[in-house]
Amino acid sequence: MQVQQANKIVVLGTGGTIAGTSPVAGANVGYVAGQLGVDQLLASVPALAQAAAGFELVAEQVANVDSKDMSHAIWQALVQRCWARLQDPAVAALVITHGTDTLEETAWLLHALLPADKPVVLTSSMRPATALAPDGPQNLLDAVRLAAHPQARGVLAVAAGVLHGARAVRKVHPLRLDAFSSGDEGPLGWVEDERVRWAHGAPPAARPAVFADLAMRLAAAPAEQPWRWPRVELVASHAGSDGVVVDALVAHGVHGLVVAATGNGTLHEALQPALERALDAGVAVRIASRCPLGRMVSLQDARWRDAQGLSPVKARISLMLELMQP
Ligand code: ASP
Repeated sequence: MQVQQANKIVVLGTGGTIAGTSPVAGANVGYVAGQLGVDQLLASVPALAQAAAGFELVAEQVANVDSKDMSHAIWQALVQRCWARLQDPAVAALVITHGTDTLEETAWLLHALLPADKPVVLTSSMRPATALAPDGPQNLLDAVRLAAHPQARGVLAVAAGVLHGARAVRKVHPLRLDAFSSGDEGPLGWVEDERVRWAHGAPPAARPAVFADLAMRLAAAPAEQPWRWPRVELVASHAGSDGVVVDALVAHGVHGLVVAATGNGTLHEALQPALERALDAGVAVRIASRCPLGRMVSLQDARWRDAQGLSPVKARISLMLELMQP
């Protein structure tokens, strides 16, 4: 039997500023995200054919939204389309065009669910396609170059020439082109002109999906059947906190709470009794640090389960997936 050779890179479009346009010629802000189709994005960068290193580029539109409006329904469609494409032996890699606002959340969701034996590269832009000097075309070129790289594996994000992993990547700036950071973990590498330079001289290890069994079950379910996403909400511990929001969410039937806690996972004393009540009511509670850098040290006698170093928004995704498991 002949083994089919992978010969395609699939570019899945979800929208974002990279597909955004402005009626004001050259404007960098005040544009509308998610206007151009992914096939238009590909057609606007002729150098992609060379960056694809012999792979055929195939466009697929999954959604076309401003990623601040990312929904669970779009996530479901994206996971399902990624899953189907990755199963295809003709597909070597995926590239996903996405808005910057929730890119780190989508990256974490995909990392948690998808097999890591092929690269899945998210890219974005800070300026719309109609800007005087748009950053989208270069980012798309870098993403395709990375996707075609023989050592690339798993979910990666590239923007402004910097390569990030799904766990560490975070949007840290509202305007500048280099809007992402991997914090003190540092980037995984860089795309420099025609080459990929790995930090520490080696590509990141491809880790199997934490929720691989769940993903298998979800993938086997009919595409038109909406997944039952548990309601997991974020609350913050801050000066003047009390338990009102927590009590209201519990009364509303919330399934899980992620608390964006101060420092090394500390909570305002006025918040704690409400979290105890939530726990008694069967609500899952996780603690993540509000600090943008570093990683919480878990205390042995901790009252609450911590989020294992995840940011609050990523901890929310992990808790939803945990609660989706049978
Ligand atoms: N609001 C836009 C989005 O996330 C921002 C961007 O893409 O830079 O879709």
